Amino acid sequence: MPLVTSTEMFKKAYDGGYAIGAFNVNNMEIVQGITEACQEQKAPVILQVSKGARAYANHTYLIKMVEAAVIECPDIPIVLHLDHGPDFETCKACIDGGFTSVMIDCSSRPFDENVAETKKVVEYAHAHGVVVEAELGTLAGVEDDVKVSAEDSSYTHPEEVEEFVTRTGCDSLAIAIGTSHGAYKFTPEQCTRNEQGILVPPPLRFDVLEEVSKRLPGFPIVLHGSSSVPQEFVQKINAHGGKMPDAIGIPEEELRHAAQLSVCKINIDSDIRLAITASIREYFDEHPDHFDPRQYLKPARQAVKDMVAHKLINVLGCNGKA
Ligand SMILES: [Zn+2]
Repeated sequence: MPLVTSTEMFKKAYDGGYAIGAFNVNNMEIVQGITEACQEQKAPVILQVSKGARAYANHTYLIKMVEAAVIECPDIPIVLHLDHGPDFETCKACIDGGFTSVMIDCSSRPFDENVAETKKVVEYAHAHGVVVEAELGTLAGVEDDVKVSAEDSSYTHPEEVEEFVTRTGCDSLAIAIGTSHGAYKFTPEQCTRNEQGILVPPPLRFDVLEEVSKRLPGFPIVLHGSSSVPQEFVQKINAHGGKMPDAIGIPEEELRHAAQLSVCKINIDSDIRLAITASIREYFDEHPDHFDPRQYLKPARQAVKDMVAHKLINVLGCNGKA
């Protein structure tokens, strides 16, 4: 089947109490690892491309790799989505260039500006059969210098969501409930430590999610920054010459719970990077004489595939839903 939009996917996910995985793609091995797992697990999938990915791999290469995945995985619906489109022009370029979904992220701008730019993208996108994700609220990262638990202003304000969705006509909404971009989602000061000395992050604000869902019944919600930063990857990286102390993510049980509620799209990027890096570091350590990229990229691709299969089954719950 050709590339699809997320409309049908989200409707089924909302009703079925699961979420679709949105995985960032940057090169061939990542595209293959993700889509092979989804094909085997019969899972619908969103392949998303950031501004950085377009700069790294080039728009044409990304499009053609995704088109190849569509041919190789005929049994599953695949969406091609722009992640964090910064402005109308970038969104328009992707809509014109074959994407079936775009995100316009003006969440750091004042409410009315966010509404105006999002509405402009929605009008152009809908006229071309493309759907739009928008964002309200700001996701914190460790570089943000704010303690998320103490800084309510970074969370989405539920009282704004109806007006925003009505005025913009967006198809899905990313909200801030305590997830965060990157592999260092929280500072040690924001966390507690378990018996093994591993950081335990503050819980997601399910009260905010529930209030948003109450105001937007049936409307698909998106969670960004939702890698779990599996400690097995972090330990493997650190055991083979890496240095990632206190890397920490969102617990998988919390994401599973969100997927059962109104969250229909969960973004995972850092876990892909960690899976690849852990695999390659281990490989180089064990085979210092090898120099053929195929030798170390093959297990790296397999590591992505295994990680994605785990997410589909244990976190998203979208296996068998294609
Ligand atoms: Zn994001």
